[in-house]
Amino acid sequence: MSITPYGAMRSHGAGVLRAEDAGSEVQLAGWIATRRDHGGVVFLDLRDRSGVVQVVADPAVAAGLVEAAQRLRDEWVVRVVGTVRPRPEGMRNPKLPTGDVEVAASAIEVLSESRTPPFPVEDDVEVGEDLRLLHRYVDLRRPRMARNLALRSQALSVIRSVMERHGFLEVETPQLTRPTPEGARDFLVPSRIRPRESYALPQSPQLFKQLLMVGGVERYYQIARCFRDEDLRADRQPEFTQLDVELSFGDEEDVYALMEELYAELWSTCLGVELPTPFPRITYAEAMARFGSDKPDLRYGLELVDLSAVLAGTGVGVFSGALSEGGSVVALCVPVGAPLTRRELDGWVDWAKARGAGGLAWGVVEHSEDGADGAGGVTLRSPLAKFLTAEEIAGILAACGAALGDTILFAAGATDATRTLMGALRVALAAERGLVPDGEWRFLWVTEPPMFDAATDRAGRPTGGWVPNHHPFTAPGAPYVDGFESDPGSATSRAYDIVLNGVELASGSIRIHDAELQRRVFRFLGISDEDAEAKFGFLLRGLAHGVPPHGGIAPGIDRTIMLMAGEDSIREVIAFPKTQSGACPLTDAPAPYDEGALTELGLRLIPQPPRAT
Ligand code: ASP
Repeated sequence: MSITPYGAMRSHGAGVLRAEDAGSEVQLAGWIATRRDHGGVVFLDLRDRSGVVQVVADPAVAAGLVEAAQRLRDEWVVRVVGTVRPRPEGMRNPKLPTGDVEVAASAIEVLSESRTPPFPVEDDVEVGEDLRLLHRYVDLRRPRMARNLALRSQALSVIRSVMERHGFLEVETPQLTRPTPEGARDFLVPSRIRPRESYALPQSPQLFKQLLMVGGVERYYQIARCFRDEDLRADRQPEFTQLDVELSFGDEEDVYALMEELYAELWSTCLGVELPTPFPRITYAEAMARFGSDKPDLRYGLELVDLSAVLAGTGVGVFSGALSEGGSVVALCVPVGAPLTRRELDGWVDWAKARGAGGLAWGVVEHSEDGADGAGGVTLRSPLAKFLTAEEIAGILAACGAALGDTILFAAGATDATRTLMGALRVALAAERGLVPDGEWRFLWVTEPPMFDAATDRAGRPTGGWVPNHHPFTAPGAPYVDGFESDPGSATSRAYDIVLNGVELASGSIRIHDAELQRRVFRFLGISDEDAEAKFGFLLRGLAHGVPPHGGIAPGIDRTIMLMAGEDSIREVIAFPKTQSGACPLTDAPAPYDEGALTELGLRLIPQPPRAT
């Protein structure tokens, strides 16, 4: 015997009935979505996971039915026995997949009653998120949420099939482990059996997957839950899901090919969209220079223009000052289709100042009366214009490829900070001016990021030390293996990211598989040999026992599904997410400590200092 498709209580799903089912006797069960009493005949919309169908309680079909239907309330769970019939002409609902038919009930049985729902179970109602999460079981019945969960399940199944096809083994790694250094704080789990000791929840299975490679697994994947105790930032979850991947005896090209196949198949199966592969690749350095970001959105142009050469001899103080200190002048040319008014320009200047920049300069490309100081009959109207030579103006217009009506925005200062500022301006302007096209999927690889970033203190001041840009297990680029210590600011690593429409979807790297190189990286990061032994002894021992060259990647599942579903928040694609303040309104987690449990764990709470009023 095999399981029935809809459960023993049902013959069909509500949403699957079509005109060709007319005449069939059906048993349905689900929730009352709406009830409309048309004096003597009651119409019910019956909803289950498959969709909605109209049920009619018609006194001509069975006695007492109308009375029974009149008792029903929204979100009660009922079972309906009836016959499918075509809807009368003029009563069809083309918006509903089942809109050609209705079910004439012969019996309605109440399976369970419901309190008045806290909000209507419809997509187009504005409901506060706390209320939605408090009653998530009701929220999940909304068609949009049901669709998102179904999409997530389908995507996971595509992922598994691609990974299995290529010989990857699904291996589970521990949830109770030692801290894994991915840059965030660990969630600690105190041990009762070993008081005053604690486990950590994994920030990622990074070290286990590397040890699986030492263990000869060769190709590993896991739909892995990861935990990071980060300060609250927009749309982060303390627990989230990654597709964790590692492979041996390969290099970047294996990872690229695997991921391109995976994403292409996800988009094609789940969205019916054929993605062009291979994805374009750009280096981190190129991404920063052209887009001022390590996750560029390629759906629109608006590339940064470096004017440092054009303005090398300029008399404009802010520009020459920045250039003489080794900085840059960077411009953005906003196309004519999106003209900026003076007031808007002032707004963007304030926007830049709020980000710590000195300001922005601007110019509007105008028709040139005499043609003397511009190229091709255009010139720059700008408060700066009188300080610029005709050659400089012509050079700016040419470098920007500027056309009549374009607006050019300029910033000057330290190169990295100026690029980052203009990169953020690029994104903000594109959104504001409506330059982001709908329905485009622009994947790319960003490769060869720096091996290290300058460490900063809490106030953001450089400490003189270095931190890994990805994680300390990432291999240096070949030219830097021998000498990354002497020029850490220039060393690149063998890491890579997948970026989609300006969102980082996945990060990974080729790993260090040489114990001595790994020790050197630790030492360089200020981790002494003793510390390394204490924290990563198990990894270093593993690396001393025959390690295949290996590397991997970890796409974020929540973000991927969010983008596929067209949602703005990962909370919309997670069944039971936490709020932005890390709480679960449904279960009221986190909860105060239980005194008895604390005693068993050998822990005592530090009394809270009284709050200053
Ligand atoms: N463990 C890394 C992360 O979670 C991904 C990787 O390097 O494979 O970002």
